[in-house]
Amino acid sequence: MKCFNNFKADRVSIFRADDPNKKKDDPKDFWQGLKGGGSSSGGGNNNNPLKNPKNKLSLGIFVFMLLVFGILFFDTSVNGSVQAVPYTTFKQYVTAGQVKDVNIEANTKIIFTSTSDIKMSSRIPYTDDTLLPDLMAKGVIVTGSEQNISLLAIIFQMIPWIIFIGFTVMLYKQANGMGGKLTGGLGKNLAKEFKPDENSTTFDDVAGQAEAKNELLEVVDFLKHPERFEKVGAKIPRGALLVGPPGTGKTLLAKAVAGESGVTFLHTSGSDFVEMFVGMGASRVRDLFEQARKAAPCIIFIDELDAVGRSRGSGVGGGNDEREQTLNQILVEMDGFDSTSNVIVMAATNRPDVLDKALLRPGRFDRQVVVDLPDIKEREAILTIHCKKVRLESGVDLTRIARATPGSSGADLANMINEAALFAARENKETVSMDNIENARDKVMIGVARGSKFMSEEDKKATAYHEAGHTLLHYHLKNVDPLHKVTIIPHGRALGLTISLPEKDAYTLNRSKLVDRIKITMGGYVAEDLVYGETTTGTSNDIQQATNIAKRMVTEFGMSSLGFINLGQEDEPLFLGREIAQHKNYSEETARIIDSEMRKILDACLKETSTILTKYRDQLEILTSRLVEKETLNDAEIRELLGFEPIKNILSLKD
Ligand code: ADP
Ligand code: ZN
Ligand code: MG
Repeated sequence: MKCFNNFKADRVSIFRADDPNKKKDDPKDFWQGLKGGGSSSGGGNNNNPLKNPKNKLSLGIFVFMLLVFGILFFDTSVNGSVQAVPYTTFKQYVTAGQVKDVNIEANTKIIFTSTSDIKMSSRIPYTDDTLLPDLMAKGVIVTGSEQNISLLAIIFQMIPWIIFIGFTVMLYKQANGMGGKLTGGLGKNLAKEFKPDENSTTFDDVAGQAEAKNELLEVVDFLKHPERFEKVGAKIPRGALLVGPPGTGKTLLAKAVAGESGVTFLHTSGSDFVEMFVGMGASRVRDLFEQARKAAPCIIFIDELDAVGRSRGSGVGGGNDEREQTLNQILVEMDGFDSTSNVIVMAATNRPDVLDKALLRPGRFDRQVVVDLPDIKEREAILTIHCKKVRLESGVDLTRIARATPGSSGADLANMINEAALFAARENKETVSMDNIENARDKVMIGVARGSKFMSEEDKKATAYHEAGHTLLHYHLKNVDPLHKVTIIPHGRALGLTISLPEKDAYTLNRSKLVDRIKITMGGYVAEDLVYGETTTGTSNDIQQATNIAKRMVTEFGMSSLGFINLGQEDEPLFLGREIAQHKNYSEETARIIDSEMRKILDACLKETSTILTKYRDQLEILTSRLVEKETLNDAEIRELLGFEPIKNILSLKD
């Protein structure tokens, strides 16, 4: 249910092209990343300017030009004094008896010296039978020669070969991936090896994940005391697959297993095996397992296994032979271990659904360890671990932060604490305050606060009405999470924010909660309409969210008159993007009903939202003017301002 975000990024300013705080999933970055990745994947390290194919090419062109100019210069300096003249001029010289000697080259070219010792050349236009008798009659010395093959001509003939050979060598070196060696680097694996004394990671560095740790303890046990298992004749596990969303600590856990059992850790990634040459991946796999056997006892860790482990034969557009061979080689190598080799293969993926079934068979990755997103308690534990590295002010309440970060992964939380420390350092403080952490959380989860200087008073007021609309509904609806805070300070691309604070992580939501969420989302729109009689473009994100919830209620959750049926399009194909391959599994008629059911839900919600805000219009005004004044308000301040009981106060919930 990741769609149900607790943070409503509101009033997205869609006309702002010069957004200084690009979100991390900015599509531009994505494409740039793709392009960058594409060009560098074949090239290995591009640090050395000469290794850069572009530089190489321009160097080649430079040398070539130098050569050509050199030769031209050389050639003209040799024949420099020879002046070319028309054949008729030559004949006139002959008739006038001013020719000393003549050399006829290959019956076509004449080089002659005049009586005044000037060397000239001319071409015979056709055959001239009278030429020789004429010359003889005048007593000119005549010689003949083969065509004079000049240095220039030889080099010109060689140039294509030089280019061709140079190009081949260049390609070969590049394909090598490592630059220098011609053959050695191709089949070498790229694993990083951590000797036991280089790896101090233990299970204590991994917060939460109790179940995963429990299952992995068995692996640790085996690596530490293999004899125990052999004695009873138990088959020892060969492979463990860590499955979970990105940033949940899979890599960390694998490293911790190696650290706990004091064995060598070979860290490699599935994408290391994907190369442009057929057979390279397989050869790298062989090399990797060879290295592992030498380093045993040890753990091979293949990160992002799905890069090579996707189902065979499912490639759209011809499949990928190379990948299949690599995968086959992994399977062969895993089967090839005898029970005493003391090598365990661990792998991580966030797409277990696309893995080839053969990988999951007994004797291969038969242990699957789920590494899930942390819950509220685990988040607190992760925060505690990462806060050990920074100095905290006394008022910092990690429980509250853990509660305000639903859906965050361990990596997000680690990043957040680091951002908080950066904020503190920027303020020249020695300790990190609660404010720093809250700002860091907003930055990581929503986008950085931009400051409100550029907003006019009028815009500020409009934003305040909009946010107050969302906010008020938190207090007049039953099935909603308590409010965390509301702000009209722009964050990222949102002009204002209303953030709720769930008391516990929501795993399921019932219909009442869903419709109340829709109503809260509609608050901004309704408030704008109520106050100004028209709405702004800032509501587009709200509308999208509300529509999304309504759609899923109808097509996925069976919460409409269509009843118990899934009309979603969840089956995502392997390689195509979602949009390309989306297909409806229902008729046009059903599509019409879906639309009308969604309409019904949205209309009912809109009506009720409108009723509530009209009824509490006075509160809307009070809240708005306070928001314009203070810019940010929390739950306690709002309750005090509007005279609500502080029953749902989040701070008291803790006790
Ligand atoms: P994954 O491999 O699942 O994508 P990583 O193991 O690379 O995630 O996690 C990235 C970082 O996030 C870790 O280096 C660690 O700092 C932090 N982290 C993630 N999960 C945890 C956890 N359970 N406890 C402590 N730190 C964690
Ligand atoms: Zn809004
Ligand atoms: Mg990882």
